[in-house]
Amino acid sequence: MTLIAGPQLLAQNTPMQDINPRMQPKLDIDEERVKANGIRKLPGQHIDLYTDLRDRSDVDELVIVFDLAVKEWCDYFNVEIQKTASYRLSGFVIEDRARFRRAGLMPDDLPDFLAGFNRGHEMWVYLQPGKYYSRHLLLHEGTHAFMQWFLGGSGPHWYSEGMAEKLAIHEWKDGRLKLNFRATDRNQVEYWGRPKIIREARTANRLKSIDDVFDIPSHEYRQVESYAWSWALCEFMSQHPATCDDFKTLTKKCKDSTAQFTVEFARTINSNRAAVDRDWQIFLGEHDYGIEAKHMVIQEADAEAGKNNFLIHADQGWQRTNINVDKGDLLKIQAGGRFQIAHVNRAWQSEAGGVTIEYYRGWPIGMLLAGVLNENNVQGLLEPIAVGLKSEIEMTRDGELCFRINDSPARMDDNEGCLQVSVEASK
Ligand SMILES: [Zn+2]
Repeated sequence: MTLIAGPQLLAQNTPMQDINPRMQPKLDIDEERVKANGIRKLPGQHIDLYTDLRDRSDVDELVIVFDLAVKEWCDYFNVEIQKTASYRLSGFVIEDRARFRRAGLMPDDLPDFLAGFNRGHEMWVYLQPGKYYSRHLLLHEGTHAFMQWFLGGSGPHWYSEGMAEKLAIHEWKDGRLKLNFRATDRNQVEYWGRPKIIREARTANRLKSIDDVFDIPSHEYRQVESYAWSWALCEFMSQHPATCDDFKTLTKKCKDSTAQFTVEFARTINSNRAAVDRDWQIFLGEHDYGIEAKHMVIQEADAEAGKNNFLIHADQGWQRTNINVDKGDLLKIQAGGRFQIAHVNRAWQSEAGGVTIEYYRGWPIGMLLAGVLNENNVQGLLEPIAVGLKSEIEMTRDGELCFRINDSPARMDDNEGCLQVSVEASK
């Protein structure tokens, strides 16, 4: 969470003033009072970390993590590292709130917040379970702070919270930090859990449209679910080929936290909006750790001129054939050839029947699947029909015939090759 808009005051005369003079004044910290309340101060290059936790190496190393993150934020937001020379914030990692209140580190005008909050020079984070999640929250608040200081703002809520989540997802390993990390397994991001929230919403039939996410009101950011939606949307927009370039330019516009920011962004992506909305639904329909939006984009299948023969690629999501079918049509489908299907450190040669060593959504990975695309209802792609090497299948709805090789959209990148697929009407 971050403080958005509101009256801006001139900062006190500090080196930080050169970075952005229009920020709230620094909190007046009485170091003696802090110490007397059992709070330790751990100074770093860009952060003074205050915590009431002891004997916790994962908390102590947050100072190193934060200092390394500054370089990562510079790279992502295109800010010269020299500009951060005097950048220094205070971060409070809190187990016992009363202690921080007594120490004067939680002023009366601090709003009630869920887990973390940033305002001006300060970041507050409540200690979370596991080692990952407190660090994530500090990086989340740190992303807000960096955007406020160096970009002049962080845009409206969906963008501000979505970007803070997106950048905060990190890998911290062997003294190296990587922000904006693509986590492919929940164990890499313990207790973070946003993909699970999206999956639960899908099961409960509560999926949000893109406009719904744009419109999440500020008071709903008291719930973790709103962060999950904002993150998923920023992740999707930053990857989808029809939106990624326009999305990137938003970092230059985030002084504006009003609805105008969103209206203008919506206008820039308008010419592809129907396809983007459709792909968003497919993205949510298969949402999981590591999912990449580029694999949720429906592509034209490679077709042999004048014939119903197609090359279906193993490293792509749904591929459309231009063949229109009606519900009840019977089609004979045959698939030949071999391709490579790979999972972490392992690869198999597969035919259209798939390899029964691993399964995705109930079918062997590598199995040829058919789906029927109806632009107004993607259900036909979310409930595909198993084809395999050779099948006669009945169409379950009207629309355009599509194919895909069964694999998780988080793991398609390292697949190689394609199947030759032929389609004929069954008599
Ligand atoms: Zn936030």
